[in-house]
Amino acid sequence: MIDEKLKEKLKAANIKYTEGIKQVMKSLSMFDNPVDITQIQNKIEKKIHLATVYRIFEKLEKAMIINRLQFNEQKSLYELNKAPHDHFICNNCNRVIDIFIDKNELRSAESSIGKRYKVKIQTSSINFIGKCKKC
Ligand SMILES: [Zn+2]
Repeated sequence: MIDEKLKEKLKAANIKYTEGIKQVMKSLSMFDNPVDITQIQNKIEKKIHLATVYRIFEKLEKAMIINRLQFNEQKSLYELNKAPHDHFICNNCNRVIDIFIDKNELRSAESSIGKRYKVKIQTSSINFIGKCKKC
């Protein structure tokens, strides 16, 4: 995420752009898939106390700058709030991979489900469970 956009979002949410937030966002942007808080802390150059990292994450989650994901009894994973997507979860090693479903496919599925159940679907989220290529 570019700094200016992030700063605007923080300002709108009344959050100060601190060095800690800068470091956390920089570290988070190095990952393609959702990661846990320890993985993020390890990537931060200047060491920040884990409690501080947690506090920063809470703030960023409330401001909807990042998403917190929770699958089964696993620890929480975090990702930047980017384009809508779903997740694949490996039921052997717990790896989580971002899944981008073709928009037309998704829309036609939502429209037929909407008709069948007489509901108006505004958003959806699907978890795909299985084995990743390493398992
Ligand atoms: Zn796996």
